[in-house]
Amino acid sequence: MPELPEVEVTRLGIAPHLEGRKVSAVKVLDGRLRWPVPGTLPKILPGQQVHSIDRRGKYLLIEMDTGYLLIHLGMTGTLRVLPSTDPLKLHDRVTFEFGKLSLRLHDPRKFGAVLWHPKTKGPIEKNILLQKLGVEPFSPEFVGELGADILYQASRKRTVAVKQFLLAGQAVVGVGNIYCSESLFEAGIHPAKAAGKLTRPQCVRLAQAVRLILKKAIDAGGSSLKDFVNSKGDPGHFMVQTKVYDRKDLPCKVCKTPIKQIVQGQRSTYFCSQCQKR
Ligand SMILES: [Zn+2]
Repeated sequence: MPELPEVEVTRLGIAPHLEGRKVSAVKVLDGRLRWPVPGTLPKILPGQQVHSIDRRGKYLLIEMDTGYLLIHLGMTGTLRVLPSTDPLKLHDRVTFEFGKLSLRLHDPRKFGAVLWHPKTKGPIEKNILLQKLGVEPFSPEFVGELGADILYQASRKRTVAVKQFLLAGQAVVGVGNIYCSESLFEAGIHPAKAAGKLTRPQCVRLAQAVRLILKKAIDAGGSSLKDFVNSKGDPGHFMVQTKVYDRKDLPCKVCKTPIKQIVQGQRSTYFCSQCQKR
């Protein structure tokens, strides 16, 4: 499943090719995605210019003249910029034409989304899909003590395990399942610890760890940027080397203790019982 780093790398991959360009046509090949693709897009988008491509959580926000395209990759979606002469592929769902280039959403399982937020509806931050998201891990609001404050305040009185607290994304967005295990290991925090019991120093370490782990994943994906302008590449996951995730029974890279796997909320969590004492 594409996580925040994959979405950010997608953004970095497609933005330089599209910013400043005008849409020449839109074709909705199959609009039955997670929510129906608005049937009005082929009428309203041609002639509109791409002003910027930003990201909020796992949503790409493409600012056009009169509104924003919100694109989510769902479970299996990929976005590519291709020569418009490249033949369409099975599972291509929506194609945005920009003269000689096409931006294509390829999504076999159709959990992705393409939505439209007209500027007449107010700022994009107020969109119902975005307004409840936690802070961005790389925003100034999450740096240093501020990030620790956010985690500390949001977790008070919460009895849920810290792993699930992080995964829920209400305090900080983008810490998917792999990155939860890796961040908690990096911060030396047991994944089953009640979120409300996190100490202030643990919140400082966790905020730092989240940013470090996500930054590493984005950097690892940087090498696949060229794959966003051809149809062949499949960057997949960027976490090249995990320290705990998917390493059950293998020795901890710090202390050699075998890594443990537990299930929390039906998702696997990996940790080192020595480095992450309860
Ligand atoms: Zn260890």
